[in-house]
Amino acid sequence: KGDGMQVIGEGHVNYVLMYNMLSGIRTCVSRCGAKISRPLTDDDFKARHKFSFDIYGNELTPSAKYDFKFKDYAPWVFRELRENYFCIDPADYLVSLTGEYKLNELLSPGKSGSFFYFSKDLRFIIKTIHHTEHKFLLRILKEYYTHVKQNPHTLISRFYGLHRVKLPHGRKIHFVVMNNIFPADKVYEKFDLKGSEVGREYPEEKAALALDPTLKDLNWIKRGRSLELGPEKGALFEEQLRRDTELLKSVNVMDYSLLVGIYKVEQDARDTHLNRRGTMYKFSPPQIKRKPTTTSKGSSPEAAAMRKAVRTSAPERVDASGSGSRISEEDASSAAQADLFHEDEGGLRARDDYGQPLERIYYLGVIDILTPYNTRKKLEHLWKGLQHDSHKISPVPAVEYGNRFFDFIRRNIRGVGKVESSNAEAP
Ligand code: ATP
Ligand code: CA
Ligand code: CA
Repeated sequence: KGDGMQVIGEGHVNYVLMYNMLSGIRTCVSRCGAKISRPLTDDDFKARHKFSFDIYGNELTPSAKYDFKFKDYAPWVFRELRENYFCIDPADYLVSLTGEYKLNELLSPGKSGSFFYFSKDLRFIIKTIHHTEHKFLLRILKEYYTHVKQNPHTLISRFYGLHRVKLPHGRKIHFVVMNNIFPADKVYEKFDLKGSEVGREYPEEKAALALDPTLKDLNWIKRGRSLELGPEKGALFEEQLRRDTELLKSVNVMDYSLLVGIYKVEQDARDTHLNRRGTMYKFSPPQIKRKPTTTSKGSSPEAAAMRKAVRTSAPERVDASGSGSRISEEDASSAAQADLFHEDEGGLRARDDYGQPLERIYYLGVIDILTPYNTRKKLEHLWKGLQHDSHKISPVPAVEYGNRFFDFIRRNIRGVGKVESSNAEAP
């Protein structure tokens, strides 16, 4: 036990749950994906598809090892998000998550009681969420979707699916599938930043011993960290974060954080060595190897077979105007745009105030965005406010939370507006 991860294999206490989650995802994503793409309607945001699994199987579901029910929420909306905005190849998605029924469980997640499961190749994360978070995501789905559509570079968590498993005795487990902000093959100094100081410290003595700690605001300050993004990317990042925070304020949410991973480029060799020895992650590296192919999309034999099973071939996809070419242009442009903060090894290269690259890469994302400022939080605010300065504690109303969050991060961005932009153009 400790930090790091553990593979869930047969016999693990959560094996049945994992099996059910993956079987459900596989079935519902394949079914939706097999249909011809069409423009979204308002009803798609409220849609729910139910599946019932048992050992026999039926026309909707294949046979499964266990009895359970599965519910897929707003499948068309998430499909659209995955394929058109987050540029996830449908076959890759299923292969990564369900190619083999194996997930890695994060051993020391947050305080909320959520479980985190990483796909075998670590690209995707399944997070179990509370029923209130689930209801909240459904309530803001339209705003979320619109925001992603209008902000292809958004830093907010990418949600790929929202599902529910119901076990025979009636227990319901809600979960989301989202992106892992950190590519698998590196070691990071990680921070979870809220812009709050109260209770926002991971004890440094503990951090020195921990395998993969996520540090907090006070560690960030004490270690003298800043976001060295250079004038150009710094300004873009600040603007994107401002827009993202505006959305979160407008839907009355709080408690989210900016997750920051700092990867030191010169440590490359040592880090690889660490990973190989399994010091960093307690499981083997991804085994799904991509063969070089003529297409840019993943085409391992596994993926190819999966693609065939999953959906009709690409040319059959049509958009509202009935022209196949418009869609592929859109796909191409959103793919190019998706790279703004992920250009350098999937992250953002650190730059000095003149825009010159430094030996670090940042991986950034806004996570844990499903806590509305509700009654429970209001009470917590009152109670904590009796003990501390009521503006410095973390549960404050959403607008105040957002402003404090954004101000904190903005103060920590270096390089913006410090140098003439001509210097920033240097390669
Ligand atoms: P709490 O409500 O107590 O903060 P939580 O259970 O809601 O906890 P999160 O804040 O979502 O959990 O995440 C806990 C930790 O898991 C993060 O600090 C981070 O280390 C890791 N984590 C969460 N989401 C991601 C992600 N998308 N990519 C990479 N790591 C993540
Ligand atoms: Ca959190
Ligand atoms: Ca949370």
